[in-house]
Amino acid sequence: MTVRTRIAPSPTGDPHVGTAYVALFNEVFARSQGGEFIVRIEDTDRQRSTPDSEAMILDALAWLGIEWTEGPDCGGPHGAYRQSERRDIYADHAQQLIDAGHAFHCFCTPERLDELRAMQQQAGKSTGYDGRCLGLDKPEAEARIAAGEAHVIRMKVPADGSCAFADRFRGEIEIPWAQIDMQVLMKADGYPTYHLAVVVDDHLMEISHVLRGEEWIPSTPKHVLLYQYFGWQPPEFGHLPLLRNPDKSKLSKRKNPTSLNYYRASGYLPEALLNYLGRMGWSMPDEREIFSHQELIDAFDLDRISLGAPVFDIEKLNWLNGQYLRALDPDEFMDRIAEWAINRDHLKQFVPLIQERTERFIDLVPQLDYLLGDRRELSAEDFEFKGLDEDGVKRILQFTLWSMDELPVWERDRLFEICKGLADALGLKIRDFLSPLFVAISGRRVALPLFDSMALLGADLTRMRIRSALDALGGVSKKKLKVLEKEYRNLVDSAGGDA
Ligand code: GLU
Repeated sequence: MTVRTRIAPSPTGDPHVGTAYVALFNEVFARSQGGEFIVRIEDTDRQRSTPDSEAMILDALAWLGIEWTEGPDCGGPHGAYRQSERRDIYADHAQQLIDAGHAFHCFCTPERLDELRAMQQQAGKSTGYDGRCLGLDKPEAEARIAAGEAHVIRMKVPADGSCAFADRFRGEIEIPWAQIDMQVLMKADGYPTYHLAVVVDDHLMEISHVLRGEEWIPSTPKHVLLYQYFGWQPPEFGHLPLLRNPDKSKLSKRKNPTSLNYYRASGYLPEALLNYLGRMGWSMPDEREIFSHQELIDAFDLDRISLGAPVFDIEKLNWLNGQYLRALDPDEFMDRIAEWAINRDHLKQFVPLIQERTERFIDLVPQLDYLLGDRRELSAEDFEFKGLDEDGVKRILQFTLWSMDELPVWERDRLFEICKGLADALGLKIRDFLSPLFVAISGRRVALPLFDSMALLGADLTRMRIRSALDALGGVSKKKLKVLEKEYRNLVDSAGGDA
């Protein structure tokens, strides 16, 4: 059997370190077996998927040195590799399930489903579809479809018993069917859900091993059942442990930078980051800490993956990156600095900001210090402003962070809008609102335009600086955070969600 593995990222945001980690293990496993590694883009969520995000994911994986032989950029014999281009395939397969009696049309409205959910929650029951449309006969369903009534297709699920499946790393996992919802397979917009698309694609793309994050374990029974309904042999499943913050919570952008763009922009070498990701849940047989991509492939053995929560610790990554940087010869060191940021293309973005503010070239570096480098350490004194007490400053910083978390695209004008919205809602002059942010981002009271700076720094770096400014102010206690969160929600709701 040829080993064929894949990653199937959804292009709904920045390229995530977790995607690179799962990609790496899939790629390394396939290559260690002389197999193939494939990238498939799961863009069936039309609201949230963007071509920009897809391009960033592919670019970041390529930067890391991860190689795929089939994908949306390079094609291959099992295309298309973008789910939005495979809609007919899913519609055909959903129809096959309907014809065989394994799936049914459901006409329940979103309002009815909301009510049902609320009732189930109130009664302390687990939420899920109650099967109202399960018994509709074929002529009735067809008549309603012909009349243009909105509908979805749901899968049938056994009423009792449980689903048992083998996980490569965990052995047998058993989940009662009672916990599995009658999953929607085709949405009202004619797009498949993840669950149908992933099974159909993994089968048609001849994927032999599905190695993915452990958050997908609860979904696997649906997939196993769909393989059974179609009469297909399922792939081997293996669920990799999730990456953690040093405090063992799930790696999230609220605590740590999670975007590969951040690591690239901060001057990590791709081979060092790849090496570090290769140590997440894996260790070399001789326990050495520094190894190349090829050495990992040569030594790789799926059975050595350990399930202990792998901690993604920036301090350790910094150490490792330093080892790689020091091992470069001076010429190469210079080349890598140029590749990183000291190059024409990168510096070009600063020109519109600095040209008119410059009298001599020696003015450049002091203006750009916080954009090309880290900003200076801050202390509480940096945040003393007339008419704004410390609580007020913390409120501004924290509210801005929360608004940023909800921002779908990181753009200068959008950043301005959220700040303006918050300032208005808080009854503050925009200048006063922005003062603490200027300091948090640049370390100075006067700096290059704030929103251009944030746009250039990117989401992760900006967020991290605001978080560290809050730390410089002594942080926000859990209790205080709760109070602030309530205040923030009220503010946003009363501003009609504009803030
Ligand atoms: N689109 C899913 C994700 O974004 C893929 C999960 C899977 O690998 O099956 O993680």
